[in-house]
Amino acid sequence: MRKKIVAGNWKMNKTAEEATALLSEVVNMIKDEVTGDVEVVLCPPALYLTTARQYLTPGGKISIGAQNCHEKASGAYTGEISAPMLQSIGVEYVILGHSERRQYFEETNAQLAEKVNIALENNVIPIFCCGESRDLRENGDYIGFVKDQITDSLFHLSAESFGKVVIAYEPIWAIGTGLTASSAQAQDMHFELRQHIASQYGDMIAQDTTILYGGSANAQNAAELFAQPDVDGGLIGGASLKSRDFTTVVKAAQ
Ligand code: PGA
Repeated sequence: MRKKIVAGNWKMNKTAEEATALLSEVVNMIKDEVTGDVEVVLCPPALYLTTARQYLTPGGKISIGAQNCHEKASGAYTGEISAPMLQSIGVEYVILGHSERRQYFEETNAQLAEKVNIALENNVIPIFCCGESRDLRENGDYIGFVKDQITDSLFHLSAESFGKVVIAYEPIWAIGTGLTASSAQAQDMHFELRQHIASQYGDMIAQDTTILYGGSANAQNAAELFAQPDVDGGLIGGASLKSRDFTTVVKAAQ
């Protein structure tokens, strides 16, 4: 049985005071209201990861994740954060290859393969993002494009390493736009990606791979998205910034 996960990607939002307030609200609501089997991953800005750690009980329902890491372990890379550093403060997950990183910081599939490697070497689980632009969705082989992102950044991994990775399908046209993929569109892509994984690693690993949907998922549409057989939870941006909305989304996944 594959894991269900709901991850909250706070992106570059919240001051320290706001972040602390949101953390404590979310932690309390999840503790009181979420009884089912769903793992919650909070991904605040890196500055607040240590604070987030302090709010959580080790081994509990909630884990923490970073939004990025560098592909090298250490060195002269001003402003960057490495996977060993994340591991050293107890960060369990790292979002890699978010479309905003690909778009604004020109991250490539090859560079992401290195980031995936260093995260796994340091026992930080990659939440690997993939997804097509609106132009590709309307005019091109968008399924092939997303499959290639996975091939190029992940298929060098051993079966054992691949088995640890979480995938997040995030169509770029749906991120922050209020335009969600329909549950059928999400299901179709997740099914295709699972087949693609099976072609490389076999059916058992494909069936065990958690594939999240991201892109304007919210308290209103999460239940329908998560009801799809190949949608195993979500990577939530905007709706993760409000404790009530985020908790509703988490509950939709249990
Ligand atoms: P959104 O962002 O939920 O605000 O669309 C999702 C994401 O970028 O991970």
